[in-house]
Amino acid sequence: MAADRHVNFFALQKACEKPECPLCTIINERIDRYIDGMLFEHISDRTFRAQYREAGGFCNTHAETLLSYRDGLAVAILGRDTLEDYLADFKKKKLRKRKSMCPACVERMRIEKEFLTFIAEADKTEEGEGENLPDFFTKSDGLCLQHYAMMFKYVKRIPKWLSDFQETKFASLNERVKRFIEFSAWGRQQDFATLSAQDKIVWKELASVLRGQVK
Ligand SMILES: [Zn+2]
Ligand SMILES: [Zn+2]
Repeated sequence: MAADRHVNFFALQKACEKPECPLCTIINERIDRYIDGMLFEHISDRTFRAQYREAGGFCNTHAETLLSYRDGLAVAILGRDTLEDYLADFKKKKLRKRKSMCPACVERMRIEKEFLTFIAEADKTEEGEGENLPDFFTKSDGLCLQHYAMMFKYVKRIPKWLSDFQETKFASLNERVKRFIEFSAWGRQQDFATLSAQDKIVWKELASVLRGQVK
């Protein structure tokens, strides 16, 4: 395996030990690091500042991380670029067209594509020794719905071990949600009482699978 494949392999292995979608876990960690790096080291990086300025700043989700950022000066320098552009546009009574996307979203999409293709290409025999990717991956909570769906966009052929694992998981969640809805009907209180504690709040599991936990 090439060096970056090793890095991805171990990042994924670690993320699979945590609850929720492993790709969401990786993205949250890496985007934090990305924003940190951008603000801390690259505030003087012309390319990043231009990218950021052209996009009109971060999207709502990523802009939120600036609120609690430790380096106030970096936030001020970046934010002022955006504010000044808007002020100029307001004066002209015409907003400029923005062609670039939030740079943190661009980075998130890059990571998503990289890891989804990496997971799909995992070969059972590649590692030789130790645990292989499908082994630890199928012990995790699996990909959230959005990330699994994204796989269809990036990957030509989703391996059977993965589609079996993911789709069985989603189907069993669907069954539990169906039962939850049925038993929530008027007059079914007795049936509802027979549900396990987890099944009584299965809607929370569904909400987390639908959205992922991604930043
Ligand atoms: Zn996810
Ligand atoms: Zn964003």
